[in-house]
Amino acid sequence: MRKILVVDDDPLVRKSVEKVLTHEGYASDFAKNAYEALIKVGEQEFDLIISDIRMPGKNGVEAVREIRRRFKEKLARDIPIIFITGYAELIDELSAEVHGEVILKPFDLDHLLITIREYL
Ligand SMILES: [Mg+2]
Repeated sequence: MRKILVVDDDPLVRKSVEKVLTHEGYASDFAKNAYEALIKVGEQEFDLIISDIRMPGKNGVEAVREIRRRFKEKLARDIPIIFITGYAELIDELSAEVHGEVILKPFDLDHLLITIREYL
């Protein structure tokens, strides 16, 4: 079973994404900030990460950069990332240096699922 880590400080987003992932047969786990995300990636294997960008503490981009740096040996391949953000202006900044899909909030869960399937 494919496993997805969802990183978002908004519990409503975590809940709605969890519901749809479970329904689609994906295993999932959640982190509410970059710190928790680093712990989860250290403990478990994930096939994909879905991450918010604006979060208290480290933002999603910094979190992903840190995950890639810290777990370079552990991750057999570059783990695919889907960013979800309510801030369109962050996208240019992001695409300049981070590979990953970006989906704008409020997002349609079907759109999210289609994007997940492209990566898994
Ligand atoms: Mg947020």
